[in-house]
Amino acid sequence: MLKSQKPHIGIFGRRNVGKSSIINAITGQEIAIVSPVPGTTTDTVTKTMEITGVGPVVITDTAGIDDEGELGRKRVARTERTLDLIDLGVIVISHNQFGEFESKVAAELGRRGTPFFVLHNKSDLAPLTDSTRDHLTKNFDAAALDFSAIHPTNYEELIAIIQKTMPESSYRRQSILGDLVTKGDIVLMVAPVDAETPEGRLILPQVQAIRDCLDNDCTAIVTKDPDVRILLENMRTPPRIVVTDSQAFEKVSASVPDHIPMTSFSILYARLKGDFEKFREGTPAISKLCDNDRVLILESCSHHVIGDDIGRVKLPRWLTQFTGKKLDFETVAGTDLPGKEIGDYKLVIQCGGCMLTRKQVNMRIRPAIERGVPVTNYGMAIAWCFGIYNRAMEPFKE
Ligand code: SF4
Repeated sequence: MLKSQKPHIGIFGRRNVGKSSIINAITGQEIAIVSPVPGTTTDTVTKTMEITGVGPVVITDTAGIDDEGELGRKRVARTERTLDLIDLGVIVISHNQFGEFESKVAAELGRRGTPFFVLHNKSDLAPLTDSTRDHLTKNFDAAALDFSAIHPTNYEELIAIIQKTMPESSYRRQSILGDLVTKGDIVLMVAPVDAETPEGRLILPQVQAIRDCLDNDCTAIVTKDPDVRILLENMRTPPRIVVTDSQAFEKVSASVPDHIPMTSFSILYARLKGDFEKFREGTPAISKLCDNDRVLILESCSHHVIGDDIGRVKLPRWLTQFTGKKLDFETVAGTDLPGKEIGDYKLVIQCGGCMLTRKQVNMRIRPAIERGVPVTNYGMAIAWCFGIYNRAMEPFKE
């Protein structure tokens, strides 16, 4: 399934309108199998390419929205899930056929606030008519481009419409720390190194926060949790803020004097990637959990689970210790949700989502929000359990 911080473009359409040819034409590579046989694309195919002004994007070719049979229905379900994860939709049609299937995709994209345009393929066989164009403008406010993937003569127009329709929020990089620091500040980052830490490297939120620090003309100092106290005592200029891995919150909080602001990488990511206000609103629900309440823990990527895994061992342990209740935990990795009714959970805890786009994180927690299930984030939940929530959220008061 789709998983990348890059903006995602989804190619939708019936079988045999030439979706695979379109993705090949856009990328200039033979990455999707092209055949006149309907239903050749049996699964999603993705390709990354660079688009000027937008940067690297992930293009996903989906199975036909009109696929049939048991297997076909599974492919359609997978195509529908792709709708949740994209930033821009391209509905491919041919022979001016924009019917029920296409209207459904357009409505689903609209429901998710995802912009789209219509690509009328096979223009060499049947050009786009004014009436189809008018129908799309009038009923869907959608732009349409006449195109031939086999004989492309207006490739630049296709790229231009992608550039124009792609929402800026999907590719304009937001600063992680920009509003919390000023030029010349020192940011102290705490990165525990233990059995669960990947060997020989820092994790993505840490790397990105260091880079963000440099982009803001600040100095990043990285240390491990046992060394925080001594380091702070020896620093002539105190750090503007301390950012710690949430797992070391308790220890680090005890070592950082109250006048130095402190938060966690995960909370910074809750702001960057998720619905920060909904997380803020949902976190106090931890204190209301009762025996046998179901808690859903959402990780956004898969990893080899070892030892005291945060999502499967530590977080459930801290929540159980804090609430004193017998809770029923379920942890789901990836981009999907469990098959069960989301309204049955009493709390949903989302990870930092460092591997995903903001749109993908928000689409994942949306069903819970729509059903009125409180949502929070790893860092905020951990801070709540350790009684340091107010301190960890203090930097974001405004
Ligand atoms: S589980 Fe979430 S926060 Fe952790 S690495 Fe994966 S996407 Fe990032």
